Amino acid sequence: MRVSVDKDLCIGAGQCVVAAPDVFDQDDDGIVELLTDHPAETDRAAVEEAEQVCPARVIVVED
Ligand code: SF4
Repeated sequence: MRVSVDKDLCIGAGQCVVAAPDVFDQDDDGIVELLTDHPAETDRAAVEEAEQVCPARVIVVED
């Protein structure tokens, strides 16, 4: 699994961090930071939830 984000379009809502705190963080301005772009399979459900709840739709998950 590979995950990517478009920081330029992130609006800092933070739902990704709530859904998958092992994979996403926010910088001081609230903009998403990836903790890893290759999350463990055990994080798949959380990462896919983050992808779905991100209001700016900037999270992309690929197999
Ligand atoms: S949920 Fe989306 S908009 Fe909100 S911080 Fe995460 S990537 Fe950015």
